[in-house]
Amino acid sequence: MPVVNAKEILMPAAQDGYAVGAFNVTNIIMMEGVVEAAVELDAPLIIQTSVTPSQFLRPDIVAGAYRSLAESAPIPICLHLDHCDDIEYCKTCAEAGYTNIMIDASHHDFDTNIEHTAQVSDFCHDLGNISVEGELGTVAGVEDEVVVAEGQEQLCSADQAVEFVERSRIDLFAPAIGTAHGVYKSSHPFVDFERLDKINQLLNGSTVKVPLVVHGGTGLAPDVVEKLVSLGGAKFNVSTDLKHTWIDAVDEYVRTYKSEYNTGKLDSFAKDAIRNKITEWITLLGSSGKA
Ligand SMILES: [Zn+2]
Repeated sequence: MPVVNAKEILMPAAQDGYAVGAFNVTNIIMMEGVVEAAVELDAPLIIQTSVTPSQFLRPDIVAGAYRSLAESAPIPICLHLDHCDDIEYCKTCAEAGYTNIMIDASHHDFDTNIEHTAQVSDFCHDLGNISVEGELGTVAGVEDEVVVAEGQEQLCSADQAVEFVERSRIDLFAPAIGTAHGVYKSSHPFVDFERLDKINQLLNGSTVKVPLVVHGGTGLAPDVVEKLVSLGGAKFNVSTDLKHTWIDAVDEYVRTYKSEYNTGKLDSFAKDAIRNKITEWITLLGSSGKA
């Protein structure tokens, strides 16, 4: 299929009450494993990279691999840049072929956050069919080099959400509701369901305008994930779970088959592990068969 942006994928999800996984990859083989799982389940898909891996691989190479995979797949696939606070790098990735850009200016004050986010919205909308995600409040955990301690995050004000979305001209909105990056320290992390529900009612109550994004999917109990989806979470970011899956698979392979020195078999083994993990997530999010 032709490449699509995230909003095109997420409007039907928000309307029909399922979520699309935004799966974080750090190399091209992971990307292939993610795509294979989504194709097998006939699920719409968002592939994402954080800033550091996209710089390491080069944005044009990530976008080139994405475009080849997406155009030959029978499902809609978006490529998303996650948590970028550098306006110029947001533009670089948009020009390279990413189809959704998250400008994360959430560490700035309210007006500066809006100003930075709107700059990226206007650039991406002028450039082409590229949607933009913004964040209000901060998410706990580690994203690239940015560390926010659990319990020290700033949750999104529902009252400010409508003004933020209107003035920043974003297509997708990530309100901080207590979910966190990395591994949760508590087995029952505080997640502010009421806050998400209120924000969703304010923004999308009569008709869906701005699909909502949940960050920090790794480690949430399945019933928590399902509840977040039912309250309007339409894009679900998953990163740490995939990194653990990849490294555990490589570790297992090397411990068992190191003496073969067969890198192709190692890659294939790790890709199978990623494919199985993505299958679990797509099934939980309810996007199987929705492509
Ligand atoms: Zn995030």
